[in-house]
Amino acid sequence: MISFSRMPVFSEIHVLKPFMKKILFAITLAGVLAACQNASNHKDQNGLPSSTDTAAVPNSAIVYYNGDIITMEGDSANYVESIVVKDGKILFAGSQDEAMKQAGDGHTMVDLQGKTLLPGFLDAHSHYINALLVANQCKLYAPPSGPGKDVERIIASLKAYATERKIPKGELIIGYGYDDNAMPNGRLLNRDDLDKAFPDNPVRVDHVSMHGAVLNSLALQKYGISAATKTPPGGVIVRKPGSQEPWGLIMETAFLPVVEKSEPMTPQQEIEWSKAGQMLYAEAGITTAQEGATHLANLRTIQHASDADANIIDVVAYPFITDLDNILKEFPLSDWGRYKKRFKIGGVKITIDGSPQGKTAFFTTPYLTGGPGGEKNWRGELTFPQDMVNQMVKRVYEMNVPLILHCNGDGSIDAFLKAYEFARSGDFSKPWNVTTIHTQFVRKDQIARLVKYKVRSSFYTLHTYYFYEAHLKNRGKAQAQYISPLRDAIDAGMKPTNHTDFVVAPLDQMMMLWSAVNRISRAGAAVGPDQRIKPYEGLQAMTINVAAQYDEADSKGSLKAGKMADLVILDKNPLKVDPMAIRDIRVLETIKEGKTIYKK
Ligand SMILES: [Zn+2]
Repeated sequence: MISFSRMPVFSEIHVLKPFMKKILFAITLAGVLAACQNASNHKDQNGLPSSTDTAAVPNSAIVYYNGDIITMEGDSANYVESIVVKDGKILFAGSQDEAMKQAGDGHTMVDLQGKTLLPGFLDAHSHYINALLVANQCKLYAPPSGPGKDVERIIASLKAYATERKIPKGELIIGYGYDDNAMPNGRLLNRDDLDKAFPDNPVRVDHVSMHGAVLNSLALQKYGISAATKTPPGGVIVRKPGSQEPWGLIMETAFLPVVEKSEPMTPQQEIEWSKAGQMLYAEAGITTAQEGATHLANLRTIQHASDADANIIDVVAYPFITDLDNILKEFPLSDWGRYKKRFKIGGVKITIDGSPQGKTAFFTTPYLTGGPGGEKNWRGELTFPQDMVNQMVKRVYEMNVPLILHCNGDGSIDAFLKAYEFARSGDFSKPWNVTTIHTQFVRKDQIARLVKYKVRSSFYTLHTYYFYEAHLKNRGKAQAQYISPLRDAIDAGMKPTNHTDFVVAPLDQMMMLWSAVNRISRAGAAVGPDQRIKPYEGLQAMTINVAAQYDEADSKGSLKAGKMADLVILDKNPLKVDPMAIRDIRVLETIKEGKTIYKK
């Protein structure tokens, strides 16, 4: 049986019914994988880039000019010639003449050389704690999100990674994001490939689903998997043709020995890994990150790193409802909602169904392909009975804090709406900040009700690229085409946000924007073209709208005098390139409160 109590993250899984646990256990693996790693895998990732344009004279103003400076103020693109940054804040945004007057003596000029400057991206939903773990692994996503184009590139990337990090003989090397579906000509990564390249190190290349890995001989030994190992029920061990030798992917329940060998972070790792994890966000242009399902142990880790001044970006954590009583004992409500050393507790997280590709999302109509265990007439299930969902939502309402609520199927969105109405018992006068997370299979009639209740949805348009074909098979064309319908949500008056759900999908904000604007599947299918949004609307869903989601629209999300100088510089303007080229745009520099935290 899976030892869920040892899993530090994605612990909404704790509350799932046993069979769902079996199906979904692998999603939790992301969190435990890297606990097996060695802290010495770090190099200088912890430090900030050594030289920056903005570090010349402390406390003097910085003037950015000569680029496309998009303010994200208003519902259509607004450009200014110049912004002035001082003491971590935006002092001025407007004409260059006025900027020069405002900047005062001793200011620094930063010539953008035609590049694009925007407010720093705010992550609307991801699993920050997992970033701490994968930060010390070799990224192997398939293009465009990573270098894992084929077996050769995967091996080359792992080698470069091991060399760069000076990983000594005998130490475990971990990669993540391996996508067997993307391998050309069905030539998959196997144990022999890894053995040949790494005869002296155990190597584990984790599958992009986080449901398994390809291991080399030393890693198989380490985890006690051999030719004699029987494939457990619900598991997969790919064997070498003509033998019983494990040769390729180890998946699902067969992957458990790897999970069970996890160890908690040491105090030093908590700090070092936090810095490394935050660098992943900084590299993606993100200056505010979400920890989207937080348990007490995770909060302690974030607190330790914050106390040690390790935070280079802002982190917003959402305690998971089932852990709330324990958390409140150590993190009293009176401290919530305020940053202290770049960390705040933003509200509460509730999860009420699973994932559509795992067939655990709850729908009002059956899956076309049956249930995950072959069930007939399968619609998925709520994570908790409706009565309990009602009580949970009501509790958060009475705490008077923001709520983020995971719901994917239209059945779970109905259940949320019921619970919302129950919690407010007819009185809708008091403002309440509520965001539905994923909301992928929302119906149009539900959008109208969400808007009526001033509930914001955070959508997940990356599924149009990564999972459309699976949704088409499981849910049929009409529903699969309508996933994450941002167009209808915006037209109905909502200010939605968009997210990566990292580490489930890559932390790639330009890929996310691309998916919202183009809606094209991995196989090239157009996915609900009528739900495409304009690039500017896509940018709103990752800046100003997210700032509102965090109750921080007064201080973040646009370039306006008085707001924080959280900025990102891109090599091209997403509003001016061919929409299909948006995913090729690169983050050149990320600035948090006036200081460069990442520079390409
Ligand atoms: Zn999530």
